[in-house]
Amino acid sequence: MRWSTAEEKDSDGRPDVVVAEEAWSAYLMRNQSIIVDLFQGQLKSTLVCDRCGFESVKFDPFMFLSLVRHV
Ligand SMILES: [Zn+2]
Repeated sequence: MRWSTAEEKDSDGRPDVVVAEEAWSAYLMRNQSIIVDLFQGQLKSTLVCDRCGFESVKFDPFMFLSLVRHV
């Protein structure tokens, strides 16, 4: 099966719910990488020991939506 853009497809007499679902899936497939590019990133956390000065640096991946929980 070839995924074409939603605009190319005609409802062809099919029920709205089927056509809408198809259009939404196509939209998500086109935009998934954009969402990841925009909202996913890395959080740098640095821990410095106040006795010996040892520095620990960590990078944790995060998604934008996960930050909502901390508000
Ligand atoms: Zn230390």
